[in-house]
Amino acid sequence: MDKATDHQVHVIGGGLAGTEAAWQLAQAGIKVRLSEMRGAGDMTPAHQTDGLAELVCSNSFRSDDADKNAVGLLHQEMRRLGSLIMTQAEPAKVPAGSALAVDRDVFSQGVTRALAEHPNVAVVRERVDTLPTSGMTIIATGPLTAPALAASIGQAAGMDHLAFFDAIAPVLHYDSIDMDKCWMANRWDKIGPGGGEGKDYINCPMNREQYQAFVQGLIDGEKTEFKEWETNTPYFEGCMPIEVMASRGPETLRHGPMKPMGLDDPRTGRWPYAVVQLRQDNASGTLWNMVGFQTKLKHGAQVELFRTIPGLEKAEFARLGGLHRNTFIQSPKLLDPTLRLKSAPHIRFAGQMTGCEGYVESAAIGLLAGRFAAAELLGQPLPAPPPETALGALLGHVTGNEATADYQPMNVNFGLFPPLEDVKKKQRKEAMTSRARAALGQWLGELQPA
Ligand SMILES: Cc1cc2nc3c(=O)[nH]c(=O)nc-3n(C[C@H](O)[C@H](O)[C@H](O)COP(=O)(O)OP(=O)(O)OC[C@H]3O[C@@H](n4cnc5c(N)ncnc54)[C@H](O)[C@@H]3O)c2cc1C
Repeated sequence: MDKATDHQVHVIGGGLAGTEAAWQLAQAGIKVRLSEMRGAGDMTPAHQTDGLAELVCSNSFRSDDADKNAVGLLHQEMRRLGSLIMTQAEPAKVPAGSALAVDRDVFSQGVTRALAEHPNVAVVRERVDTLPTSGMTIIATGPLTAPALAASIGQAAGMDHLAFFDAIAPVLHYDSIDMDKCWMANRWDKIGPGGGEGKDYINCPMNREQYQAFVQGLIDGEKTEFKEWETNTPYFEGCMPIEVMASRGPETLRHGPMKPMGLDDPRTGRWPYAVVQLRQDNASGTLWNMVGFQTKLKHGAQVELFRTIPGLEKAEFARLGGLHRNTFIQSPKLLDPTLRLKSAPHIRFAGQMTGCEGYVESAAIGLLAGRFAAAELLGQPLPAPPPETALGALLGHVTGNEATADYQPMNVNFGLFPPLEDVKKKQRKEAMTSRARAALGQWLGELQPA
């Protein structure tokens, strides 16, 4: 057979997601063509080698603690599903405490070799410029998708362009907010179009001294510099970093995202000097985002400064703020529950393009895309992993809520799981991970042929 032409699924992009998807398909007996543009004269602005699954920045897959950490749990679930990325991380491991970190070259070489040697995989070094019009395809070209293909995807997805600065405001866990200091209210108690009581936002009040110290903290805080290639991407006034606003004048934020007008603090009956507002970020209300707080402050500086906000002294962050170039589609609207493009179901998406964030999450969505595609070809429909599992929770973020108005990339975190309110906070993470293990076991059991 000619491995390059005689294929059943075309996977485009040989990064974390594409390699995992190709592996899952190949292991299921499906023939795959894996197209990767590096090695054919093309390069992204962040990659440096021709190796598959190159880690472009950190060499860490983050925590490997499967009992108390959501990404550690995701590692464990992926191992149970025969993940290529997890298997190849093992021999590449470097000492990193409770984290799973790897020698990036050993890791990438391991992935590249495993796929090259697989009888069902043809790795083809080529750039793909348009979405294939037929044939089962998985698009896994990542946050730095080459421009021609990005334009073609934009056309199919009904989006003008896909490469933009991704303005991310921090998201925090509800149960880490001190509600004795904050209160729920809408500005002027206005009731929104969806109805309700006019109490949708959490408001954190600040007095004059707290506000002034906070503004100074934003100005003085250590920032991440723009990379040279980032400066060529369009920059929108609408995603202005909060520290840039702070540097425009001491009152700017009080007339912008920290405006107190129309927000009576029930403890004083008056407007505070300034207010930080939090808006519900997921349907279950376990996650809340800081409205208008997109920032380029370094992560450590964000945690330190944002914990000076009254009510957020013990805030635990599900995601910190950031601004970087990213390419992702509005997955909740565009994809079906098995990651297929609703308007062209022969195409699936995987990896960071779907709006998950991180190496492990990208590989996890690749794993699911590969498995869903294999199941479809083999005529053995695959139910989605239960929402109590890390895989199911992450998939729920990507495809779960069609009504999501402002879809943003996110790492896996416990806020995406169904809540477990009856369990004491101290025991909650372990209760969630053991619930997840049971749910995954049951799901795997159902997949076994009778
Ligand atoms: C600068 C930067 C730094 C990051 N740092 C981290 C970090 O430290 N930790 C972390 O967990 N996550 C990080 N991420 C986020 C993200 O998890 C990684 O980018 C991850 O590699 C995404 O996996 P992926 O498979 O979706 O994309 P990628 O791993 O980027 O793989 C996509 C592949 O598609 C190829 N490709 C693109 N266009 C085409 C085309 N038209 N035809 C053929 N091939 C094509 C690319 O060459 C690439 O190999 C970072 C992202 C960026 C942009």
